[in-house]
Amino acid sequence: MIRVEDLHKHFGGFRAVDGASMTIEKGSITGLIGPNGAGKTTLFNVIAGVLKPTSGRVFMGDEDVTGLPPHELFHKGLLRTFQLAHEFSSMTVRENLMMVPGKQTGETIVNTWFRRGQIDREEEALRKRADEVLDFLTIRHLTHEKAGNLSGGQKKLLELGRTMMVDANIVFLDEVGAGVNRTLLGTISDAIIRLNKERGYTFCVIEHDMDFIGKLCDPVIVMAEGKVLAQGSAEGIMQNEQVIEAYLGR
Ligand code: ADP
Repeated sequence: MIRVEDLHKHFGGFRAVDGASMTIEKGSITGLIGPNGAGKTTLFNVIAGVLKPTSGRVFMGDEDVTGLPPHELFHKGLLRTFQLAHEFSSMTVRENLMMVPGKQTGETIVNTWFRRGQIDREEEALRKRADEVLDFLTIRHLTHEKAGNLSGGQKKLLELGRTMMVDANIVFLDEVGAGVNRTLLGTISDAIIRLNKERGYTFCVIEHDMDFIGKLCDPVIVMAEGKVLAQGSAEGIMQNEQVIEAYLGR
């Protein structure tokens, strides 16, 4: 689904991504791991169009999508989740979901005067879709909660929910488990697995928690110093000498 070929991203003379090549198979939940500073986030940002690569290519299927801006990739179904922007914190969970699809009739002043009926129908459809998403994620009780009041794990669920408001094909998730309690982590991984199995989402997940990676991801890609060190099953890669050396320095 995604193929990265000899990708470089340099910041001045510093090679954050230094010739990385990898593939993300359609229908997989691919894990991306590696020590801090390995270049994982930078690689994510280049694939998702947030950063332009210094050199190298990114393909989505057969299409060369190198350097396309995030909104064009978004329309192709490639989404990168981000922590909620500050300005969305004061909106409710449902409002946060409803605004994802964009291009709504009610966004222009003229339309709010002359096309009230259409706006009402669009809003109703969006509200229904948002409520289905909240049910799927088992957080319907948070419908009217301000997003800023959510716990870290609940915010992650909302990020996942935002991808469900549009027809996503491939979702890049950053540090799913960071600061999330065990119960909520279970809810999040269940949601990821169900989105993968029932809705055909492909995922690429950056994560540090090896327990979480082992249960959720196959295959796992290991990065170190801007390069891909290994790709394989979670068990297999943890027995790989190079990987052990990169993690433990021996
Ligand atoms: P990881 O996600 O694996 O921890 P990052 O991709 O965040 O790694 O960072 C890789 C390296 O690139 C780090 O040493 C980081 O300091 C550097 N880096 C990341 N973004 C920038 C930037 N905008 N300018 C300069 N250096 C950066």
